[in-house]
Amino acid sequence: MDYQEILEEIQSEITPFLRQGEVATYIPQLACVPITRFGMAVRTVDGRLFQVGAAAEPFSIQSISKVMSLTLAMTLVGDGLWQRVGREPSGTAFNSLVQLEYENGIPRNPFINAGALVVTDVILSRLRDAKGTVRDFVRELSGNPAIDFDPEVVRSEKGHGHRNAALAHFIKSFGNLENPAEEVLDAYFHHCSLAMSCADLAEAFLYLANGGFSPATERQVTTPSQAKYINSLMLTCGVYDAAGDFAYRVGLPGKSGVGGGIAAVMPQRFAVCVWSPGLNPYGNSLAGTKALELFTTKTGISIF
Ligand code: GLU
Repeated sequence: MDYQEILEEIQSEITPFLRQGEVATYIPQLACVPITRFGMAVRTVDGRLFQVGAAAEPFSIQSISKVMSLTLAMTLVGDGLWQRVGREPSGTAFNSLVQLEYENGIPRNPFINAGALVVTDVILSRLRDAKGTVRDFVRELSGNPAIDFDPEVVRSEKGHGHRNAALAHFIKSFGNLENPAEEVLDAYFHHCSLAMSCADLAEAFLYLANGGFSPATERQVTTPSQAKYINSLMLTCGVYDAAGDFAYRVGLPGKSGVGGGIAAVMPQRFAVCVWSPGLNPYGNSLAGTKALELFTTKTGISIF
């Protein structure tokens, strides 16, 4: 299928949606990004890349990094991970604290902030350079050695990360962090600050469309079962408490970030990434969700 024509149609139809969301302001550095930016890229398992708009422009991937850290943690500790973090949708906001108290410091899933902090702790206990390992991993997966942390975003998150600090200390109080909360937070903020483009992310996510095999690295990154597990978690938990609406409208497993990116996967076919910084009230890109809905509607391709 020629996805280029479809991407161009979407680019022209998306304009009215670009100003409808709100750029994240709780991380002040993210508020500097113009709300009208829009890019989209599709990378197919048979080696084609289609892109439109600002698809080559790096943006802050934020929580999309949770997919890479989860992948690393799963390859490091396998199913042992599920002793420390759950696999159920939370139905609460991405940065919510409430369920932790009732569930003894075990976060509901690896994609809410609480869960990602535990996943980061797992990596930190086994590989001292958790930051560098995740950065090198995304460089390898995307085939782009220039990908790096954005130091301004790290500084901005650290200066305003009171909620994440509260989460880390609260989890630590239940004994579910092995490392000092400050070290876990530092690694977590760095992962979130990685700057990547839609084209980078579409390439990096391709192993999830391809049974765990990454074409960029020519290696089996995860087992086929692990790729299935990660896709299932993205479908049920990847866009927080909008998971039902996203599955209904888009019909693909996907992971969003408050920088306005959403990466999604169609197993056996493609990975797709869209970026538009205006967010809906759930912290997911408003125009990005619409663009993905248009994409699966126009192509007739979704997991359902
Ligand atoms: N760094 C962000 C935070 O911790 C990530 C949230 C997101 O992208 O959903 O609040």
